[in-house]
Amino acid sequence: MLLVSRYNMEYWETSEYYNLMKDIPMKRIAIYDMDGTIVCSLHRYRTIFDDRGERIDLGYWRENEHRAMEDSLLPLAKQYKQDVSDPFCITIIATARILRNADIEFISTRLGNPDHIVSRAEGDVTSGGTLKVSGLKPILEDYKARFDIWDIVFYEDNVQYLKTVCDYFNIRGVYIPSKQGH
Ligand SMILES: [Mg+2]
Repeated sequence: MLLVSRYNMEYWETSEYYNLMKDIPMKRIAIYDMDGTIVCSLHRYRTIFDDRGERIDLGYWRENEHRAMEDSLLPLAKQYKQDVSDPFCITIIATARILRNADIEFISTRLGNPDHIVSRAEGDVTSGGTLKVSGLKPILEDYKARFDIWDIVFYEDNVQYLKTVCDYFNIRGVYIPSKQGH
């Protein structure tokens, strides 16, 4: 695995190894959920209990979507940033959020823009797992057709979404324990 920090990126891009490797069409793909995985948005998150058990209080979440710039980074964000800097890694954010201006600003200023973002369209009420599968499908198929993809990993704090996505694509999943996995 090639992990390159922004600090030594300049050196890396002039190295012989980089020049040798940059045209080889061999890539890996890293897919990251946002909330509870690389971003802490607990300050605007709460759950409710009903006959289906515990779930996110979507009304409360929607009311506070404009506060996305007050979110903070979780430890895994460091690895996310390394993947964004790695020319051999295709980095994807797969979130069940509806992306508002504040979310887009947070991603570009605090995380760094990935190669692709899968997110919820306004009014789409499908579950996060299904949403991520249908958003990721054309992206993964396209890369698999064009490159030799030697690894695909999905990082997620929601067990159900993790299972849905990894079972569907037969890819490796990494469960990230969090307090906002509903
Ligand atoms: Mg999450």
